[in-house]
Amino acid sequence: MLNRLQIFNAIQQRLDHADVAGGHLAVMFLCVPGLHEISLRFGYDQGEHAGEKVHELIVAALRPIDQVFRAGDDLFVIVLPGMLNHNHVLLASTRLAQAFEQPLSSGTTPWQVRAIMGVSIYPEHGLGADLLCRRAGMALDEAQRRGELCAIYQLHDTQVEIFYEELRDAIEANRLRVFFQPVWDLQSRRISGIESLARWTSAQHGEVSPASFVPFSEQSDLISALTRWSVNATLRQAANLPTDSGLSFAINFSPRVFARSGTAEQLIGALDIWGVPPTAVVVEITETALVNDLESSMQVLHRLRDLGVRIAIDDFGAGYASIAYLRRFPATELKIDQSLVGAMRDDPHTGKLVSAIINMAHHMDLTTVAEGIEEQATQDLLADMGCDFGQGYHLGRPEPATDFVARFNAVSGPP
Ligand code: C2E
Ligand code: MG
Ligand code: MG
Repeated sequence: MLNRLQIFNAIQQRLDHADVAGGHLAVMFLCVPGLHEISLRFGYDQGEHAGEKVHELIVAALRPIDQVFRAGDDLFVIVLPGMLNHNHVLLASTRLAQAFEQPLSSGTTPWQVRAIMGVSIYPEHGLGADLLCRRAGMALDEAQRRGELCAIYQLHDTQVEIFYEELRDAIEANRLRVFFQPVWDLQSRRISGIESLARWTSAQHGEVSPASFVPFSEQSDLISALTRWSVNATLRQAANLPTDSGLSFAINFSPRVFARSGTAEQLIGALDIWGVPPTAVVVEITETALVNDLESSMQVLHRLRDLGVRIAIDDFGAGYASIAYLRRFPATELKIDQSLVGAMRDDPHTGKLVSAIINMAHHMDLTTVAEGIEEQATQDLLADMGCDFGQGYHLGRPEPATDFVARFNAVSGPP
């Protein structure tokens, strides 16, 4: 089995000669999902043997000039030089798929596996081994999503490939923008605070949603820098509001950053710099991801809680909320996910569920915030159910923080 670098180097060598050889070169990621299972069910020796068999089978189905590398338990990377066009690539994938139709035997046990393939093509989809491999990987994901045997890389309108350097530079150069969405007190019908939301306009892709770049930051090491930026950008704006505004400032935190030391200190330091009291800040954490690193996150959260920082469980009801950790979690508020709020008006069953969540939260001394209120009728329903706060397009869309601050100060006088 070769490591990533060895495979990159081997591909790069072929690429260096591709122009000389003429034509296109395809990089194929071929996944055999069943291989991993064979190891688990029949033992690693059997798994290894099966892996070798599959390797042989792939080689036999291809031309002598093609190269096959074993890249993981169930992953093979294949280099197909001299491809004439997309059809030529599809022909190769069909030949491979046919090869997998025969049951193979490992010891005395016959077994059947299938292959799923993702392909990128040089020079159309990239000039270097790194980019070609990433794109072959993306095509493989796409084939799995669509339930197809083979997909050739294609950039969709909705799919944004985030380039690490571009996002890193945008964060470092403070090119992200901070937006505020108002949070309303549903009982007194006044603005009680804001939620801070990041916005990024990429030079290559235009407006990129945080739903894309936040998870990307979490997977790379950019999440710490994004969090630091988000805290400072939010508090800088908060400092421009009157100290007695009574507004709360909700900031989204990735659960990932709580497992690292220094997160609490960083927030405390920023509160000090911008002169914002800890009691005015709400740390929002998504409930789905909380399950990981619960222990280490808990210590940091308790420290913040002791200082008076409020803690909200975001998107409650969207994922795998567990009552067990709700019990131990030092939360002060529960944000009910917009999928429940959006459905409650037309579906009485969901309405009952939302009402039950509000009651449960109140029993546990948690305040409730409903997310994604898009209509007056939903707002009225929630207010009747006793929901404390609400947020949504009907009450106010996210807007540049500077606009929110200017408007607030115009009404109440500058700080
Ligand atoms: P979230 O914290 O649950 O934020 C609420 C999302 O719902 C926002 O999406 C907001 O624009 C959207 N929204 C608000 N009202 C409505 C409505 O009435 N209808 C609908 N359909 N949507 C509504 P946005 O800004 O795209 O952010 C997506 C997620 O990205 C956020 O979900 C949050 O988890 C994350 N995020 C945003 N900014 C940051 C940040 O600075 N740091 C971190 N770590 N995460 C962030
Ligand atoms: Mg949030
Ligand atoms: Mg939310």
